Amino acid sequence: MPGAAPHRTRSGRSCGARDQGRCVRCGAEEDLQFDHIIPVAKGGGNAMDNIQILCADCNRQKSDSIV
Ligand SMILES: [Zn+2]
Repeated sequence: MPGAAPHRTRSGRSCGARDQGRCVRCGAEEDLQFDHIIPVAKGGGNAMDNIQILCADCNRQKSDSIV
């Protein structure tokens, strides 16, 4: 019986991230992704202070702009 699952965690809010929940660049609240401020390959860690929230668009733009 699909469609009757008692899940209510897809609303996009209260996902547990501390002061985050929107893109740090444009403020979008959809399609958010965790992004390493300093890439792990360049010595960045997985601590929260090296993690920022970007929306899919900004994350893509950031990737494209790294030369
Ligand atoms: Zn954005």
